[in-house]
Amino acid sequence: MSNEHNVHPTDGFSTLAIHAGQAPDPQTGAVIVPIYQTSTYAQHAVGQTYAGYEYSRTHNPTRTALQTCIAALEGGKHGLAFASGMAAIATLCYLLRPGDHVILGDDVYGGTYRLFSKVLQHYGIRFTLTDLTDAAAITAAFTPETKLIWLETPSNPLLKSMDIAALAEQAHARGAWLAVDNTFASPYLQRPLLLGADFVVHSATKYLGGHSDVVGGLIVVNDDALAERIAFHQNAAGGVPGPQDCFLVLRGIKTLAVRMRQHGENARQIAEMLTKHPAIERVLYPGLPNDPYHAIARRNQESGPTGSGDRAGFGGMVSFIARGGEAQARAIVAKTRLFTLAESLGGVESLIEHPGAMTHASLAGSGVEIDPALVRLSVGIEDIEDLLQDLEQALA
Ligand SMILES: *Cc1c(COP(=O)(O)O)cnc(C)c1O
Repeated sequence: MSNEHNVHPTDGFSTLAIHAGQAPDPQTGAVIVPIYQTSTYAQHAVGQTYAGYEYSRTHNPTRTALQTCIAALEGGKHGLAFASGMAAIATLCYLLRPGDHVILGDDVYGGTYRLFSKVLQHYGIRFTLTDLTDAAAITAAFTPETKLIWLETPSNPLLKSMDIAALAEQAHARGAWLAVDNTFASPYLQRPLLLGADFVVHSATKYLGGHSDVVGGLIVVNDDALAERIAFHQNAAGGVPGPQDCFLVLRGIKTLAVRMRQHGENARQIAEMLTKHPAIERVLYPGLPNDPYHAIARRNQESGPTGSGDRAGFGGMVSFIARGGEAQARAIVAKTRLFTLAESLGGVESLIEHPGAMTHASLAGSGVEIDPALVRLSVGIEDIEDLLQDLEQALA
């Protein structure tokens, strides 16, 4: 299961995206890692494998390539692939024990909140929903049993940014881990492990896959022992992706840098247009210089391969609050032509949604209120003139 050492540690981000774990196939010279559509592997003698592969729940060469590639992109040692982002998150949570406590960002993906509130609680794992931009709230949330801080930055759907390095320090001072869901930023904008996080998690369904044609999840970790424990549970619980899905994520990752730059450029222009629009009360976008989280987003993004939001952009997610309240928000999402009304994000095509009634409906009753006038955009890489025109007509 060795991976060809075809890349150097000093190679640039896109070189790693295109080559890490993806040396030409030694048997045929195939430039693209084959889709190893096999469940099992022949052995020369009992326990004597050809190349370390025995059964595809445990290991599959297409998956190995993806795992090696994402580890390289995140600046980490070990990558692990899963059937979905939620399978990755659930498997990571097998590291927790009954009685453990988790500080959970109050602005996380609805499915993550649902996992903690509706599933893990039954196994004795407790959590406190916490505003991770509020230092006093974080201090108050810690208990002697706190084992993990879980955050997303930028967050979903409010696009708040949290100081990854400071939270890693706080977690470690209290003997806890820091896990960062890096789905929104992608490793092209920020690399949390370089800022001290213990785990990076992705829904590969979003920017990494990038084309809205695959569901997948990833974890990256530096610590060898933690990686081994997660790999044990990856195999024991079995939430693994098939080789075709690994291939699609690998293919998407090759263009991550160019896509992220274009997502960021289109999103910046849309955020600027919305800021000036009379129908909009407030625009939430970390790339706007006067956004309250701009400085923290910049600091987090210094861990990215370009080291700068000015060169890399600030991602493709833009939220806004409609001045006309919920009725207007619902009217806008029904009126766009190119922005498709749909959940999910991170694909080349633009999407629009109403978080209160769609992606974040599972937060109902959590005490966290999603403003019913909030609209979330996943800005795609279509021609910006068309996207601006589409939003203008929907807002008119
Ligand atoms: C979509 C998403 C998830 C869940 O991933 P799936 O691939 O849908 O299981 C987790 N976190 C964030 C931030 C997401 O956007």
